[in-house]
Amino acid sequence: MIRKLILVPCTLFPVIFCMAQPDRWQQRVKYTMNVDVNVQTNRFTGKQKLEYWNNSPDTLSRVFYHLYWNAFQPNSMMDNRSRRQGSIVLRQGRNGNDIVDWDQRVRDRIQNLKPEEYGYQKIFSLKMNGRPQKLKTEETILVVELDKPIPPRSRATFEMDFESQVPLQIRRSGRDNPTSKVRYSMSQWYPKMCEYDYEGWHPTPYVAREFYGVWGDFDVTISIDKTYMLAATGYLQNPNQIGYGYESKGTSVSRPSGTKLTWHFIAPNVHDFVWAADPEYVHVSRKLKDSLTVHVFYKPTNATAQQWEALLDMAEKALPFIEKTFGPYPYKQYSFIHGGDGGMEYPMATLIIGPGAAIHEWMHSWYYGLLGTNESMYPWMDEGFTQYAEERVTAFLNNSTTFPYQDEYAGYFNLARSSKEEPLTTHADHYNTNFAYGSAVYSKGAVFMEQLGYVVGEQVRDKILLEYYKLWRYKHPNAQDFMNIAEKVSGMKLDWYKEFWINSTKTIDYAIDSLWEENGKTNIRIKDMGLIPMPIDLQLTFKDSTKELHYVPLDLMYGTKPAETDSVSRKVYDPWQWTSATYTIQTSRKLTDIIVAEIDPSQRMADIERKNNRLELKW
Ligand SMILES: [Zn+2]
Repeated sequence: MIRKLILVPCTLFPVIFCMAQPDRWQQRVKYTMNVDVNVQTNRFTGKQKLEYWNNSPDTLSRVFYHLYWNAFQPNSMMDNRSRRQGSIVLRQGRNGNDIVDWDQRVRDRIQNLKPEEYGYQKIFSLKMNGRPQKLKTEETILVVELDKPIPPRSRATFEMDFESQVPLQIRRSGRDNPTSKVRYSMSQWYPKMCEYDYEGWHPTPYVAREFYGVWGDFDVTISIDKTYMLAATGYLQNPNQIGYGYESKGTSVSRPSGTKLTWHFIAPNVHDFVWAADPEYVHVSRKLKDSLTVHVFYKPTNATAQQWEALLDMAEKALPFIEKTFGPYPYKQYSFIHGGDGGMEYPMATLIIGPGAAIHEWMHSWYYGLLGTNESMYPWMDEGFTQYAEERVTAFLNNSTTFPYQDEYAGYFNLARSSKEEPLTTHADHYNTNFAYGSAVYSKGAVFMEQLGYVVGEQVRDKILLEYYKLWRYKHPNAQDFMNIAEKVSGMKLDWYKEFWINSTKTIDYAIDSLWEENGKTNIRIKDMGLIPMPIDLQLTFKDSTKELHYVPLDLMYGTKPAETDSVSRKVYDPWQWTSATYTIQTSRKLTDIIVAEIDPSQRMADIERKNNRLELKW
């Protein structure tokens, strides 16, 4: 593969550096889909035209599609996986019952579906450039052996006829979800081309977890019973025929005759398309700025109308902070849609069962939506970074000054002590337990980002976030791509941080070992009792309530964290060689002046044994 390097103008922070603009090739899609929904049988027929640009340097002799809904049938891989996880005992509950590893939403529900409740996607025909192709359905993956290969840097057109049955809602997609009876939560609803990238094809069988898709443009028309209101990814093209709050102000809506309405949406530059439909939706919207309207579609169940509509106020207040911290939101709309289970992110939209999940799902627009990492390979870069962003936005909205990541650190510590931990390099589908997956990906992934702030400095970490967004949006970055940005922006080597924190399950434990006076100086010896080396902030608090910060960089960093605050004087030491078990720092103050010595008072370093980090001295 050829990687061109295009130089972009330098940024002055914290040292002068030039960032090469990554130019990784991307496949490209343009979907044109027409579907006709029967709300009595819960089935729909679909025609899909897919223009596919093979921008890779490779010749493709076959292609793969996802057929996610075939997972919702008894004995599917998703069903088997779920029931096997239900047999794993995590621990004993308080009442002596076994706590098992179920995803409570899935459990054995797929096993118990009746035929009319199954999901399926049946492909009747598929042509490439007008010629019928040979198809093989392997449950949730359609394998297409092409009669003629697609050459590098060329375009092929696929035309497909299909029929789907909407499954009873089990997880994410489906009809009539148990909590609020939203009729249709239509995610993963169409045959979707798998991504082909520099690592090859990604035909990942669906077992309930993560997603990855090809960026492109969607043109979708949906014919459905007139009484249903729709919410979707993309911009509605015929609002004045539709009404339902989409029409321009002052327009009288003129609907065509017949029992159905045809909704026409287009969505540019996204890697998926979701829609939802219910006859009882309430639709409210607000223009947050010229280029962005936020919508809320809800049924006044699970939360009150006021709580649902308050999402508009939340979005209005949060947007400037979010864009300043994480980068601009580039689409013209975003919709909070009542549906699904819990919360799930889609381009320009989320399906949530209540307003509580809104901020997390909206923040996915950045990591799932715009960065678009392969979530199967790097789930922590999506869920962990999103979790981090959610806590940060929530703290901003609440004007909170307490540490926002308490739950994520606690979740990580719980995992690290559980004996169930697996490294973050684990494929999302391959974690042995739902417990280890969730705690690693969400909690340890969020801690990665906050702890990075401890290593490189908070302001530098914030520069990294923006530079990452700027250079890698729409490009599927991997873990190393993030680390490269972090190294360049910070001017430090950080490979060790990835190797220990992401690639291993080793843990951090530093301790204050001893203090003594010698030749008019006080010595404080710090001991490394863990297996991950880290730079050390040690703060001394004196009787007169003054403080000193002593900073010991780690040798592997080949750099020094800039001071994060001017309010405390800081002394910078020679680097701690990571093989050394102890390091001694010194203060000119008397031992009996010290009342507290504390390693990392910010608590951003995820030290699994914090009791030995802080020493209070009584004289
Ligand atoms: Zn999430």
